[in-house]
Amino acid sequence: MSPDIVIVGAGPAGLCLARALSGHGLSIVVLERQAEQALAEPAFDGREIALTHGSQALLERLGLWQRLPTEDVAVLRDAQVFNGPSLFALKIRAEQAGAERLGHLVANQAIRRAAYQAASECADVQLLCETGVRAIEQNQGEMKLVLQDGQVLQPRLLVAADSRFSETRRQLGIGAQLKDFGKTMLVCRMQHEHDHQQVAWEWFGYGQTLALLPLNGRQSSVVLTLPPREIERLQQLDAAIFAREMERRFERRLGAMQLVSSHHAYPLVGAYARRMVGNRCALLGDAAVGMHPVTAHGFNFGLTGVQLLSDTLLVAQGKRQDIGAGAPLAHYERQLRLATWPLYQATNLLVELYTSDHLPARLLRGAGLRVAQGLLPLRKGIARHLTARG
Ligand SMILES: Cc1cc2nc3c(=O)[nH]c(=O)nc-3n(C[C@H](O)[C@H](O)[C@H](O)COP(=O)(O)OP(=O)(O)OC[C@H]3O[C@@H](n4cnc5c(N)ncnc54)[C@H](O)[C@@H]3O)c2cc1C
Repeated sequence: MSPDIVIVGAGPAGLCLARALSGHGLSIVVLERQAEQALAEPAFDGREIALTHGSQALLERLGLWQRLPTEDVAVLRDAQVFNGPSLFALKIRAEQAGAERLGHLVANQAIRRAAYQAASECADVQLLCETGVRAIEQNQGEMKLVLQDGQVLQPRLLVAADSRFSETRRQLGIGAQLKDFGKTMLVCRMQHEHDHQQVAWEWFGYGQTLALLPLNGRQSSVVLTLPPREIERLQQLDAAIFAREMERRFERRLGAMQLVSSHHAYPLVGAYARRMVGNRCALLGDAAVGMHPVTAHGFNFGLTGVQLLSDTLLVAQGKRQDIGAGAPLAHYERQLRLATWPLYQATNLLVELYTSDHLPARLLRGAGLRVAQGLLPLRKGIARHLTARG
């Protein structure tokens, strides 16, 4: 079979790309290792994805936003950052950018379901599940993929969108700068006594990092970052004891708390690919840029990649150029690096500074928040970045 494009990974990034390229005379195959049922009805995975206005606009154009159930979409009005036991908070307000909200929080499960529905409607997109690429052969400008069942595909372009630990990236011989933060993030939904007023909290405590993402009603996604052994201990706790521990960790700022979902743990490893493209191939989503979740930009960057790669390929296709040729792919690489590298680096620096419990770091981070709070243009800049529609 010789499709125009093969995408490995039917995660939100891979499926959004398939949808964005559909309807332009290209044949697209998406390969996924999971069963189709797991894509059609994805399990709750604890992730609540903060989406910027720009990401929302793209999801609307791709026909995903309209498919999200209202109960799975919550308003993210403002955000505040605390340091240590201090009650002082750096506040980022939507109104600083003349907007009503900084963005929305959407359950990853709902995004995945909507992405599957949107892609499976496309006649030019073929989904092959419970399979993967056994071998890749690249010869004189040609790409040959041997699948696990022995099937052979010869696409004009291969897109790897198979997560930050991408096997396809490896098979293509593309390295990545991996950053292991040595911590694990635990996420779950909790009900609480006091109102969150649709404000997200990031709280860099000493010895732990806590975040609270406001959902609908008096529920929030609780995000706790600790060394892996401590997270394992918490996962063993009975729900009531777990809730008491969370109340204590949040210093009862939200009053009584109750666990209302399963909890999920993610080891914190960042990834930035050394090259975004190669001979007839490109990387997308977490396979290209796997962010630390603290700045909530992983999928937002995945969507930036979808926009950049689909625009580039469709322009090449419109001019009857080879979509797997070097020039369009080099353009995609330049644009993606420009859009992602500064925040990737800034995020890693922020994590280093705000999770270090050494005295100089503690003092510097407290001072940093106060300086940032005094810099209205900086806070306005962040708010504008989050609320810009594209
Ligand atoms: C706790 C947490 C909170 C987050 N919060 C935010 C947030 O607030 N905002 C934000 O923008 N982002 C956030 N993110 C990041 C976001 O979840 C990811 O960026 C996004 O899910 C990546 O999508 P993807 O499609 O690139 O990869 P994935 O979601 O990892 O999907 C990859 C797909 O490829 C398949 N696959 C893997 N290997 C193979 C293979 N070899 N062959 C075939 N198929 C394969 C997998 O089964 C999967 O379906 C968060 C992440 C975490 C962990």
